Amino acid sequence: MKTSARIAAGLLLALLLAVACDSRTTHSPGTTPSAGQIDRARLLAANSEPQSWLTAGRDFGKSHYSPLTQINKDNVRSVGFAWEYQTHTNRGLQATPIVVDGVMYTSGVAGRVYALDAATGKELWSFDPQVDGQVSRKACCDIVNRGVAVWRGKVYVAALDGRLFALDAGSGAILWQTDTVIDHARGYTSTGAPEIAGSNIVIGNAGGEYDARGYISAYNLDDGSLSWRFFTVPGDPRKPFEHPELELAARTWDPASRWELGLGAPVWDGMVYDPALDLLYIATGNALPWSQGKRSPAGGDNLFACSVLAINATTGRMAWYYQEVPADQWDYDSNAPMILADLTIGGQKRAVLMHAPKNGFFYVFDRKTGEVISAKNFVPVNWTKGLDPKTFKPIIDREAVDYAGTPKAVYPWGGGAHGWAPMAYSTQTGLVYLPVTEGANILFDATDRIERRPALTNSVTSSIALGAFRSMPPANLPARIKTALAAPDLTRNVPHKGLRSYLDAWDPVRQQRVWRVEMANLFDRGGVLAVGSGLVAQGNMAGLLNFHDATNGALLHSIDTGSSIVAAPMTYSIGTEQYLAVMASVGGGPLSFNPPPDSAAFKRGNLGRVLVFKLGGGETPKPALLPPVAPTPQPPPLSASADEIARGASLFAQNCSRCHANVSTRGSTPDLRRMSAATHAAFEQIVLKGALRPRGMPQWDDVLSESDTQAIHAHLISLGWEAFRQESEQRSGTSPAR
Ligand code: CA
Repeated sequence: MKTSARIAAGLLLALLLAVACDSRTTHSPGTTPSAGQIDRARLLAANSEPQSWLTAGRDFGKSHYSPLTQINKDNVRSVGFAWEYQTHTNRGLQATPIVVDGVMYTSGVAGRVYALDAATGKELWSFDPQVDGQVSRKACCDIVNRGVAVWRGKVYVAALDGRLFALDAGSGAILWQTDTVIDHARGYTSTGAPEIAGSNIVIGNAGGEYDARGYISAYNLDDGSLSWRFFTVPGDPRKPFEHPELELAARTWDPASRWELGLGAPVWDGMVYDPALDLLYIATGNALPWSQGKRSPAGGDNLFACSVLAINATTGRMAWYYQEVPADQWDYDSNAPMILADLTIGGQKRAVLMHAPKNGFFYVFDRKTGEVISAKNFVPVNWTKGLDPKTFKPIIDREAVDYAGTPKAVYPWGGGAHGWAPMAYSTQTGLVYLPVTEGANILFDATDRIERRPALTNSVTSSIALGAFRSMPPANLPARIKTALAAPDLTRNVPHKGLRSYLDAWDPVRQQRVWRVEMANLFDRGGVLAVGSGLVAQGNMAGLLNFHDATNGALLHSIDTGSSIVAAPMTYSIGTEQYLAVMASVGGGPLSFNPPPDSAAFKRGNLGRVLVFKLGGGETPKPALLPPVAPTPQPPPLSASADEIARGASLFAQNCSRCHANVSTRGSTPDLRRMSAATHAAFEQIVLKGALRPRGMPQWDDVLSESDTQAIHAHLISLGWEAFRQESEQRSGTSPAR
């Protein structure tokens, strides 16, 4: 061991920017026996208590619409700060809080739970599931959590590691807990809000880029015993099918499919339950690996990936399904949140399910039968030539978007036309308000390697957002890929060459856009709230909470919060006062690791906050501006060969780049071009021995050898020198020797 490597990990903690994971534990100052008393009758009558917000989307249909009217178009300019609660974390917050009987329940990083006095923000109790930092290795898109469920005195939450907890709503004490992960040797995490369905609480998981086989589990609400489990893709065909639906699904897979990879289709978000029909609606993610030739070589639709399914909540049997993307190869997860509503279509009142997933189509289903009433693309698409007019089955344009053999430009991009961020349906205007992104991905397979990497990413396919690719050509690609990427006709079938985001108002009956507001930042695609007084609220990366006129999109008011926002706002009232709340801090995908320079997260950090506003409120306190970015420190001498550096770059891309993109100088994980001398000295200790595991940096000795780690280190030193030289040149026009 190098002498310098013996530097104590404790010193390093102070030297490094690191993942914040506060060490506070559960505490229960007192119990409120009547807390959290939501039940079926109360939920069905949600409109009779507009002061409450009873599910992640307020009502059982998850409309994200509130009938409250005190804050309206005329007085919205006077809406200001009421109170805040700080979570002492710096990773993404995506949950929509629940408010019932004066108490706010919400979730944070890795499944922490907070119970707050909804009038003052005073903490009543908090809960930390104490997730091992090693689990973050299995999280594709930050260690987020999208909410709790509250039911008959219990608060349910799924921790990142897949443990499902039932907490006492009055005290936060654990009433029961169960491990929902069937195989910890695979890349399973839970990030979605659990859903109350009949007498069960249901949770799925994430892992569609890892080696997960998707499923949901239903547990008895009272004691946590397993009621049933539903898999979304078939398992190893040498074993019996776990339930009959898998026999149907298996016919759409090559018998020689890569079963050992799990095949994906996880249910990581987007569940909603209709009590009248006793049907739970789930939506599934992409199949794995992305490239169908590597997954199910003979083709097939690959059910039930990228589908909406209706499951009987009592029996666990499927009532209907519709596959939104047959034979997906483009990361078109269908997990976007769904909304149940009653729409008048052709003079008839229809009980519908509305869905606007990544694939760019807005669907209206009859939620009893699964009939597609209508479907229309809300952004340009090039993956399909259109939908069959009778069956609504997409006609895949394979020539345009099948990237087997050569890169293809695919539209929408893999981030999706619309992802996890909640849309809102206003019964007042009859419109759906949704965050939309338009853009293309270049997809290609740079390698044919498909040996399973247990509990690690197995998606194999490379994807590059079109705008980013043109300015930053990737290194270390095979010559045939480089040539294909340089071909001028690669993007000929792409409607727009850049990425752009919008807030859209969509008429779900006429299937047409009513208005659109372009966002300042590509990543302004946060969740949406619609309010009965004709307002639509949405936060953004710059830290503004914006209020739009629901009828025409006009911006009526903007509150500068000093914190980047991706979560959906919600509203409630206590006594005579209407409040509006939102969780602030960015995360999801690479966002919290690389906040854009014009974002509040870049300027002021990514401190987690619950922010609450009211009429006549004051100016919102902002986190202090961060000091200017210090110059890149001079890296140690680079002695490795070019081949070794290239090997390190490839290992880094495979294992490290999800959390360390090294393109922003600020984020919730360190920019490794800017490592200090002490960090360089302790590099192997950190990567292989877990020196920073308590702070959320996983240990890698089960994946990487000492020589792998040295190659990665060489790659980072090389990147560091590049940044250091560039800065030096900018300062003086001279280049220091390396
Ligand atoms: Ca995915």
